[in-house]
Amino acid sequence: MEERTEINSLGEFGLIDHLTRNIEIHHAGTVLGVGDDAAVIDHFGKQTVVSTDMLVEGIHFDLMYTPLKHLGYKSVVVNLSDIYAMNATPTQILLSLAFSNRLSLEALDEFYEGVYAACERYNVDLVGGDTSTSQKGFVISVTAIGEVAPDQYVKRSTAQKGDLLCVSGDLGGAFLGLTILEREKQIFLENPKIQPDLENETYAIGRQLKPEARPDIVEFLAEKGIRPTAMMDVSDGLSSEILHICKQSEVGCVLYEEKIPVHEEARALAMKLGLDPTACALSGGEDYELLFTMKQEDYDKITLNEQIAVIGYMTDAAEGAHIITRGGSKHAITAQGWNAFK
Ligand code: ADP
Ligand code: MG
Repeated sequence: MEERTEINSLGEFGLIDHLTRNIEIHHAGTVLGVGDDAAVIDHFGKQTVVSTDMLVEGIHFDLMYTPLKHLGYKSVVVNLSDIYAMNATPTQILLSLAFSNRLSLEALDEFYEGVYAACERYNVDLVGGDTSTSQKGFVISVTAIGEVAPDQYVKRSTAQKGDLLCVSGDLGGAFLGLTILEREKQIFLENPKIQPDLENETYAIGRQLKPEARPDIVEFLAEKGIRPTAMMDVSDGLSSEILHICKQSEVGCVLYEEKIPVHEEARALAMKLGLDPTACALSGGEDYELLFTMKQEDYDKITLNEQIAVIGYMTDAAEGAHIITRGGSKHAITAQGWNAFK
């Protein structure tokens, strides 16, 4: 039998001590971390970038198929992704939790293993948080803090006509992973004797359960002396994010279906499920890739980077936002991009 320690047995302060006992501080800028009324951070003349996100059980995650360690990791990563999307470097996080007595101390430890793994991988310090109980369900709130050289942050609202539209990595995988997990859950609920068959879909499931943010892209662009003209991360799906940049920058765009990067395994899985891979990329979400625009003259500097795809270009606002399909037809991009051209 697995051990089960009731969280109540530690008391609030005992619990916080337990969860934070192994914290190692890596940033000189973390002047004061966990243990006082507030943390103290020095960014040594750089500007501070802050973002927060909440994850609610039953809305953003399902504990039936989400291992707690992965959930801890993902909770941190999705927040760091927002900091990178500002062209900044994350340095600290705060983590607040509310949980019911359904969660044991061992379960919470597993969650924190994932949190600390992400802190290590992305070099951020956990400097505080809050701990509360809930009547039902697990609620996670992460605040990420980062730094950027003065005025080097990149907004969504500064793309210009003629700029190239680029995206990192590949899209649609996380949505396909979720589709598979949901399907297996339904099968299991109908017949608990059937074991889930997930063996062959490790790529898509990995994209859903253990997403990664893209510091490598931010570093690459800086190394090449490219400052994106606008940037954001892809959390809701490509089409919705493109529309944000177009609206906030007051530009239009042309997107080429054939240029949208979709991983081979994701494409094969989409076909197997009877889904259109492009639709998954446009409307799926949770890929945590970076979507950015840049000056055409910088094009030569990115051609050798296989992790960056040029997928279109920005136009006058009056031209609207369109996708040119493989077949050559032109359709307006909508927030639910795929209904439009099927
Ligand atoms: P307060 O009563 O001022 O809210 P707490 O007792 O909640 O203080 O927190 C004490 C310290 O522990 C603070 O530094 C806080 O940021 C930190 N902390 C509380 N909960 C967590 C948590 N779940 N993870 C990490 N740090 C936490
Ligand atoms: Mg508190």
